[in-house]
Amino acid sequence: MATLIAHIAVPSPLRRSFDYLPPRGEAVPLVPGCRVKVPFGRGHTVGVVLAVASQSRVAKTRLKHVLEVLDTEPLLPTELLSLLEWASAYYHHPIGEVVAAALPVALRQGRTPRARDPGWVQSAASLLTETPPTLHPAQAEAVQAVAAARGFQAFLLEGITGSGKTEVYLRLIEQVIGAGKQALVLAPEIALTPQLMERFTQRFSVPVVLLHSGLSEGERLQAWRAASSGQAAIVIGTRSAVFTPLARLGLIVVDEEHDLSLKQQDGFRYHARDVAIMRAQRAAVPVLLGSATPALESLHNVRTGRYQHLLLPQRAGRASAPRVTVLDMRSTPTEGRVSRPLLAQMATTLERSEQALVFLNRRGYAPTLICSGCHWVAICARCDTRMVLSQRAQHLACHHCGASRAADTVCPACHVAALYALGHGTERVEETLARHFPQAAVARMDRDTTRAKGALQALITDVHAGRSQILVGTQMLAKGHHFPKVTLVGILDADQGLYGVDFRAPERMAQLIVQVMGRAGRGDAGGQVVIQTHHPEHPLLHLLLARGYAAFAEAALVERAEAGLPPYSALALLRAEAVDAQSPQAFLEAARVIAEAAGVTDVQLLGPVSAPQERRAGRTRAQLLLQASRRATLHQLLTHCLPQWEGLKLARRVRWSLDVDPMEMA
Ligand code: ADP
Ligand code: ZN
Ligand code: ZN
Repeated sequence: MATLIAHIAVPSPLRRSFDYLPPRGEAVPLVPGCRVKVPFGRGHTVGVVLAVASQSRVAKTRLKHVLEVLDTEPLLPTELLSLLEWASAYYHHPIGEVVAAALPVALRQGRTPRARDPGWVQSAASLLTETPPTLHPAQAEAVQAVAAARGFQAFLLEGITGSGKTEVYLRLIEQVIGAGKQALVLAPEIALTPQLMERFTQRFSVPVVLLHSGLSEGERLQAWRAASSGQAAIVIGTRSAVFTPLARLGLIVVDEEHDLSLKQQDGFRYHARDVAIMRAQRAAVPVLLGSATPALESLHNVRTGRYQHLLLPQRAGRASAPRVTVLDMRSTPTEGRVSRPLLAQMATTLERSEQALVFLNRRGYAPTLICSGCHWVAICARCDTRMVLSQRAQHLACHHCGASRAADTVCPACHVAALYALGHGTERVEETLARHFPQAAVARMDRDTTRAKGALQALITDVHAGRSQILVGTQMLAKGHHFPKVTLVGILDADQGLYGVDFRAPERMAQLIVQVMGRAGRGDAGGQVVIQTHHPEHPLLHLLLARGYAAFAEAALVERAEAGLPPYSALALLRAEAVDAQSPQAFLEAARVIAEAAGVTDVQLLGPVSAPQERRAGRTRAQLLLQASRRATLHQLLTHCLPQWEGLKLARRVRWSLDVDPMEMA
């Protein structure tokens, strides 16, 4: 019998698997999906068997033996291995690191999980622990459509906040677990998982587990095992949960599918929504994407017939759509950043014992500390960007590299003139509102106030209990929280993103505005929204406010098509950074020469250019954009170029990375 060779994924930045011979001595079978201890470099490491073959590209005499087989049964089923291999190929990321992303740290390190748990068994008693509401016709239609899917099918469930999307998930999950299968529910933020958990545990008597990065390693291992053994009926998680093995997967739900947080922005850069689609396809199960503001990519997939569109046109409860007022800030008096008309409406809201929510997507006290005499500005020496004033203007912090120091009190340039805070962040708006409404309790929700464990939950509890009447915050406010007593929402800077360098800026702006608006009047009281803008005439903003997100999306897609941008083309971004100023450009120039020599037509090479934020944390950054009208040619080119890029001498002088389907161009 020919000696068998194992292809093994080893945690390594090299873009390939490694071949090993079976362990010496007694014949232990090598099974794909099992972990093995192997010699690697000067030591040893834990890898996962991808496949067993009779051939190796390496001469057998040079192959080493597996030291030890760590699992008697595969930890990762073949279906998941095949998904990981797809992801490695699609994102052009080393298979060893991709496989590692699917395993809790304890398992990556080679520890042995306890014996398999018994699978979850449906008890004779009812699944339900509460009586579900009667579905509205649109909800019933959506549930029917997904339930009727035989095998794989992708659905986009579009409905404004409060239209009953979660209720649709619940109904479908009920059917799935009733059939003895498991449901995987992905949410973009850890902060959103407790609410889903609560809805699901309130409704069902089955085991539900959470998987996210906030768990301790022990908790994560336990949840992972409950999912993979089939003991957990429902698995709720953030993006990396998309790689969790599930013994009997029956349905995948991706909530807030438009959210940027579903894309991993460093290391293994994958989009959990797109991976979820591929996973559902492999598992032959339906996948349901939900959003009030679908990504333009997803709407495009509806048009091309890849996704089926399900619409929930109305709010589910008694609440009605909010009334919207647009204020032209070029001619409206303000106090700080807050307009007088908004302050007046807030006063009325507070008199009625209702709550108001004020949104500004900029944390800190003020974005700039400037000298009134010589116009010196506090700059981060490592990033060349303005440092943000915070903690009542006592502190300066760089939001790019985290550098911080005490704020200057005298101008370090002219040594005479006074310094002042220019612009307004959430902290300053909080101060303005506290001064204007001395009787009201003002709470602030942003990354600065929610860093401590439990702080976010405490803030949310205070709002629910009515202990805070005014809530000021950044985009964190926009994310799915349900505040029934909020009847007024103020958006202080609607056009903040309109003129950004990123072609997705208008899409983000529209999503943010609609999501924040969705916080108004979720209870019975009906809501009001006040939008402050300096550009009420901006065509896309105007369209959004006058005719809604669907009309906005249609126009934005036309713009994308005209510019040849995604979803009408495929992008990959090659980034490089280094301490010296020349190497990144030089590396990318060399990378470009290699790409040009490949002779692949149809791929445009744009750059190299300086990154929009040219310096960060003491490093100079540059990028080369690859744009193709057909995805296949882009992949063909990347496959051809990567080994050569890796081999460049210059590659060792820079930190470089490849981002397939980049979501942020910075
Ligand atoms: P979404 O996920 O779209 O924000 P939810 O499913 O959370 O919407 O529904 C919003 C509110 O309306 C929730 O309080 C929910 O319990 C309620 N609800 C949803 N569907 C119905 C229905 N068919 N009848 C009555 N209430 C409903
Ligand atoms: Zn000065
Ligand atoms: Zn910095």
